[in-house]
Amino acid sequence: MTGGSSDTPLLARRRILIVGGVAGGASCAARLRRLDESVEIVIFDRGPYVAFANCGLPYYVGNVITDEKALLIATAAMFRDRFNIAVHTDSEVIAVDPSARAITVRDLVTGYSRQEPYDALVLAPGAVPVRPPVPGIDRPGVFVVRNIPDSRHIRSWIAERRATTAVVVGGGFIGLEMVENLRHRGLSVTVLEKLPQLMGQLDPEVAAPLQEHLTAKGVHLHLGDGLACIDQDEDGGLTVVAESGTRLAAGLVIVAIGVRPETTLATRAGLAIGARGGIAVDAQMRTSDSSIWAVGDAVEVADVVTGQETVLPLAGPANRQGRVAAESIAGRPTHFRGIQGTAVVGVLGLTVASTGASEKGLRRAGITAFEKVYLHPGHHAGYYPGARPIHLKLLFSVPDGRILGAQAVGFEGVEKRIDVIATAIQFQGTVHDLAESELCYAPQFGAAKDPVNVAGMMAQNVLNGDMAVADWRMLESTEGLLLDVREPDEFARGHIPDAVNLPLSQLRSRYTELARERALLVYCGVGQRAYFAARFLAQHGYRARNLSGGYTTYTAFQRARPV
Ligand code: FAD
Repeated sequence: MTGGSSDTPLLARRRILIVGGVAGGASCAARLRRLDESVEIVIFDRGPYVAFANCGLPYYVGNVITDEKALLIATAAMFRDRFNIAVHTDSEVIAVDPSARAITVRDLVTGYSRQEPYDALVLAPGAVPVRPPVPGIDRPGVFVVRNIPDSRHIRSWIAERRATTAVVVGGGFIGLEMVENLRHRGLSVTVLEKLPQLMGQLDPEVAAPLQEHLTAKGVHLHLGDGLACIDQDEDGGLTVVAESGTRLAAGLVIVAIGVRPETTLATRAGLAIGARGGIAVDAQMRTSDSSIWAVGDAVEVADVVTGQETVLPLAGPANRQGRVAAESIAGRPTHFRGIQGTAVVGVLGLTVASTGASEKGLRRAGITAFEKVYLHPGHHAGYYPGARPIHLKLLFSVPDGRILGAQAVGFEGVEKRIDVIATAIQFQGTVHDLAESELCYAPQFGAAKDPVNVAGMMAQNVLNGDMAVADWRMLESTEGLLLDVREPDEFARGHIPDAVNLPLSQLRSRYTELARERALLVYCGVGQRAYFAARFLAQHGYRARNLSGGYTTYTAFQRARPV
């Protein structure tokens, strides 16, 4: 039996063992020590490191982070010296015996196994990258990115083979971070993604600008096609074969099609596993065994928006859950509030962020009483040079206006807006709270009406009937007249088929040309002039609805359509 040194006699000390020493496990251990100097804390990790920055791995591959040591947030020595926490690396926990309150640990260097008793056990084993069982998946040159050795091997492979091409299988956030970093190293990159869009958690029209940006940056996108197999050519090069039969040459292949909770130990120990495949825990992160807690990618927890259980492999929740588990073990009444999926990714200069539910997520959860607004404001005041658009979609429940989710794409200030909305969701905020939020403003940072305020005000207008919005999907079925209120030169550059052009600047003098009995679907460039027009028309007896987000959102929908 091993442990850290202390003045307290060993037998009198409560023994807390932690399996997995990275995000969830390390934060649990450190918090626990801050709360209780009397307990013995021991971390086991089967890898060679603890507390390393998984999130930095793509940037190490890309040479943005050049020193591997920078990825080590804390070492075993630091845990010992600062916190009196014992760390055993290269130590795989192979069994948990809840009735004996003991784990079996195999030393991966010597091959010997031993038993370690515990008073409390924390499982923080993370997730396992999904490797589809297709022919060729185990060939040299096919990688997943999960730990420091993985990224070291990718770096060596690129250097030794002088790789110039890569195929990234999977267009989620790890796949996209790898795209950015492989491009950074000068490789030609193709993304193979089974869905017809990148970033499956986004609604397709929000992913459209991302796809366009990557294409403009020279990334080849092969969407709506799955991985069939990976062939090896005679010269040693790899060929990724898609289900459609398309063949993509690759100097290396990154497989990033997602992760699943690592539940091997929990399952064998007879702990309850939830419907989504993660270890089932209560609000104190306690499993079905009262002496065992579980945190991080391995668990499933409630989504605060949909109320449904979900798995969410992100570092923030893992850290917070580690802290909650520590507090629970120390006897404090803290509870984990649940997750809302706040996430951000930067790809070749573009930022994509989201929080809460997407529209498709709401529909999947059976939630239909919601509305949405689209807006495309500048990230700061338009009169100050350099304003760049943020494409923002806000979803909210009807009629109470509770914020359900938001997604945004742009070059600057994107994550700031999503973070503000994420915080409002934490407090069960409504669109009225967004409209009223007092946010930073000086010309180079924002606007007197920040995009977050504007989104809230637009949603208020929808809720109180000032701005009836039309769903873009109505376009194909509606009998209404499509009214484009932009100027004729804008209309001439592109418009929705069958639209009639009556510019806002002429509406007051010409509105009687419009038949009153026919419903109107009004649009402009981004939605503002259409809102003015719709308000005017509504007050003159017309049934006018605004196509939220205007022609910009329309074109995003068009580009998002699978070809
Ligand atoms: P992990 O951090 O994965 O730690 C689990 C540890 O348990 C591992 O070290 C493993 O070796 C060990 N282990 C497993 N089984 C055993 C066993 N039987 N015995 C002993 N040890 C065991 N999240 C974000 O929020 N933002 C990002 O930008 C981001 N980028 C990422 C980029 C990459 C490349 C990766 C891989 C992940 C990224 N994540 C990001 C996700 C984030 O890193 C994880 O959600 C987080 O690390 C999960 O923490 P965890 O403690 O549950 O598991």
